[in-house]
Amino acid sequence: MTQASAYLTLQGVGKQFGAFTALEDIDLSIPRGEFVCFLGPSGCGKTTLLRIIAGLEAHSRGTLVQDGRDISRLPPAQRDYGIVFQSYALFPNLSVADNVGYGLVNRRQPRAQVTARVDELLALVGLPGSGAKFPAQMSGGQQQRVALARALATSPGLLLLDEPLSALDAIVRVRLREELRALQRRLGVTTIMVTHDQEEALSVADRIVVMNQGHIEQVGTPLQIYREPASAFVADFVGKVNKLPAVAEGERWFRCGDFRWQCPPGQGADYRVGTPVWLYLRPEDRIVDGLGPDHPAACEGQVQQVEFLGGNCLAEVVLPGLPAPLQLQFSLNQMDEYQVRAGGGLRFALRTDRLHVFPAVA
Ligand code: ATP
Repeated sequence: MTQASAYLTLQGVGKQFGAFTALEDIDLSIPRGEFVCFLGPSGCGKTTLLRIIAGLEAHSRGTLVQDGRDISRLPPAQRDYGIVFQSYALFPNLSVADNVGYGLVNRRQPRAQVTARVDELLALVGLPGSGAKFPAQMSGGQQQRVALARALATSPGLLLLDEPLSALDAIVRVRLREELRALQRRLGVTTIMVTHDQEEALSVADRIVVMNQGHIEQVGTPLQIYREPASAFVADFVGKVNKLPAVAEGERWFRCGDFRWQCPPGQGADYRVGTPVWLYLRPEDRIVDGLGPDHPAACEGQVQQVEFLGGNCLAEVVLPGLPAPLQLQFSLNQMDEYQVRAGGGLRFALRTDRLHVFPAVA
């Protein structure tokens, strides 16, 4: 993406808390209308980065440009964004309508105009007619909808969401994230959401920025992040994965216990013979169907246990000659079809075309 087409551009953004580097040189471009998630473990710097974009935290170095305007030194009030925090942060003594209309009243908009806009926003977030209530009379999910309406009141160019769903219970969280995504699409507002929940990021984001210890590990679509992790950290952090110790044998071949596998082109060509590596393979990257009696990659394993996950199951399979058990994923119907049972045998092949290789020592 060229900088010209970017709505928000961060260049060399860094943050020190005394001697501690919370953010290293962050370079990032976000096009207009995109829904981006900052994803990473606790302490990786994602909230600090969001707060710097909002002007709520001063950065130590670097430049921020929003819609062609250098906002690096602007106070929050002069930036163009709405923000939703994890803790709702509604004014408890103000009605829902007054909470939502707060920014509009501050901008001295006429009362009738504010009332109409508040009604429109409450309908938009699925709370029509709730204006007279007070925050304490609402559930967590409803309060977060009010916070969202308030953030959108001034039609900001940028919507910032700091773990907005993490205080909610699982069912409300999933429903609200779907609604949030639909609303964002409808409004087309450029959105950044901070989350440590990989499933949430995978389900809502156009692109995910995976962060680790103050730097960006990878920026990509959810599918790219899942299928083509750029580092062992990303492969470990996003989704379940089998991690197998192996040694490079050259020409993309790797020995893992008694097994030898060749990685797909583009993977593992640079490792010198004898280099210890980790091979990564997703639990769904296995074949059971259509393995003829002479299939060269077929192997026989023993199912140790089965973890029930709803529509899917994870079977722990011990393969003689492999240094660690494998986690293989099957749908509930496949469990019946292939007769995957704890204590039973399983004939399968691994999708070695899906292997990823990362150095054993980073
Ligand atoms: P979490 O999901 O737990 O909120 P995070 O990825 O959002 O984590 P940040 O809150 O951005 O992480 O913090 C990044 C790092 O900066 C952490 O190590 C944190 O301890 C440190 N940090 C954040 N704020 C301050 C501060 N005001 N003073 C000193 N260190 C800070």
